[in-house]
Amino acid sequence: MIRTINAFDLKDRNVLMRVDFNVPLKGKRVVDNFRILATLPSLSYILDSGASVTLMSHLGRPRGVKNEDLSLMPVGEELAGMLEMPIKFSHECVSQDALDTSLSLKPGEVHLLENLRFQNEETSNDPEFSNELSKHGSVFINDAFGIAHRAHASNHGVASHFKHKGMGFLIEKEIQYLDRIMRKPDRPLALILGGAKIDTKLDLITTFLDKADIILIGGGMSFTFLKAKGKEVGKSLVDEKMITTAKTIIQKAREKGVKLIIPIDVVCGSNLKDEEPKGPFSIEEIPEDLMGLDIGPKTEELFMNTLNKAETVIWNGPVGVFELPGFHRGTENIANHLSSFKSNGKKIIIGGGDTAAAISKFGLVETMSHVSTGGGSSLAMLTGKPLVGLTNLEV
Ligand code: AMP
Repeated sequence: MIRTINAFDLKDRNVLMRVDFNVPLKGKRVVDNFRILATLPSLSYILDSGASVTLMSHLGRPRGVKNEDLSLMPVGEELAGMLEMPIKFSHECVSQDALDTSLSLKPGEVHLLENLRFQNEETSNDPEFSNELSKHGSVFINDAFGIAHRAHASNHGVASHFKHKGMGFLIEKEIQYLDRIMRKPDRPLALILGGAKIDTKLDLITTFLDKADIILIGGGMSFTFLKAKGKEVGKSLVDEKMITTAKTIIQKAREKGVKLIIPIDVVCGSNLKDEEPKGPFSIEEIPEDLMGLDIGPKTEELFMNTLNKAETVIWNGPVGVFELPGFHRGTENIANHLSSFKSNGKKIIIGGGDTAAAISKFGLVETMSHVSTGGGSSLAMLTGKPLVGLTNLEV
């Protein structure tokens, strides 16, 4: 059993909390604070209980090397602004100075440690590093859902040093939501798949061939399916190694009665940096020298009409290169369409990563039933894999 944060008497305690502040930065500025916002319920609970808190997180992939561009300092400034109070910041995670700061915190004070991944010991789950981290608090709370599918020093190793340990409200909400949807979804259940790579989503497709009623495929991966159906796709992204797999998936969907829908038209560009959309082109007429970078309006309509029949929608992967100004429309229009579903009692779940970033960019987070903060972790849960980062939280 994993206890939730509200099972503890935190008064006058020093809480060590693992959070996921792996947010996008532009220079020294946080451009999307969605993940910071998601930790505020646990953070407020700790502070309102009369405890102090030391927060630890990773940011990006510095691969064991100190890198000022990936410092958590701007995140600390963003957090201080959101909490409307000053917070303390330590330039190292395990120095004597950092430890002294943690141990001298007064109730209601917040202390943020520098990027955990400036040390390789974090991702290698080094026992000595975990032990040093554990000295920052007397209660350990893990609220970093985004990293729960990995066993690292700050979520897995560190937990073994605590008697008082549990999960925060964010992890509790993520698990409850994804677990409920997987065990007893309201039907029809639709899965929207997009993004560039098929291989990372293969488990998801296989699982949902047995679970979903409808699977809609957009994004770069749809071209491998189109190729498997014998279409010419110009310079669009195709994973040659996966064409046979795509054929098998199409065949299995037919056998299992799952409605598998792929694009019927696309908007193209010359390359992955092009900002001038060309088309739309029917799937039969993609020019040889262009690549499909977004779904076209007929596909949007087809997707929307199909989604109208669903009671539960799970979405993993943007249906176009939404980061480019000319190719965000498909993803944005589908997102806008889904934003009316919640008020009709339907459930819309956004698997984290790029899809969550897109929904956040369009300002639609509140309109979805659940926007996961963890791409890899939600993928693990949706495919029935254990969240290995949480195993040491069991009591
Ligand atoms: P993934 O990590 O596999 O989910 O891929 C996400 C990325 O796929 C996003 O950054 C999108 O820009 C990209 N993407 C979406 N549609 C396409 C497309 N048609 N061609 C190439 N990349 C795409």
